[in-house]
Amino acid sequence: MTRHHAHEARQQVSDVAGPTLRIDPSVCDGVGICAHLAPDLIALDSWGYPIIDDHVLVRKRQQRQANAAVSACPKKALFISG
Ligand code: SF4
Repeated sequence: MTRHHAHEARQQVSDVAGPTLRIDPSVCDGVGICAHLAPDLIALDSWGYPIIDDHVLVRKRQQRQANAAVSACPKKALFISG
């Protein structure tokens, strides 16, 4: 299993309603700026690739962090859906 496959395997699609932070792992370069800006939502795996908490962004703090990470991602890999 390649690291990208391992990474994608963690990006479970959930059936929740509401805005959620998402990632396109095919464009992410794994530098991890996002994890510093959204520590409540993003952890880094052992290769430095983000692991996204895909729960609905119900709290203002979560929404602020998600927006900051989306804006700062140099690859435009992050987006908010829902
Ligand atoms: S900032 Fe963007 S490119 Fe960098 S690790 Fe996070 S999602 Fe990937």
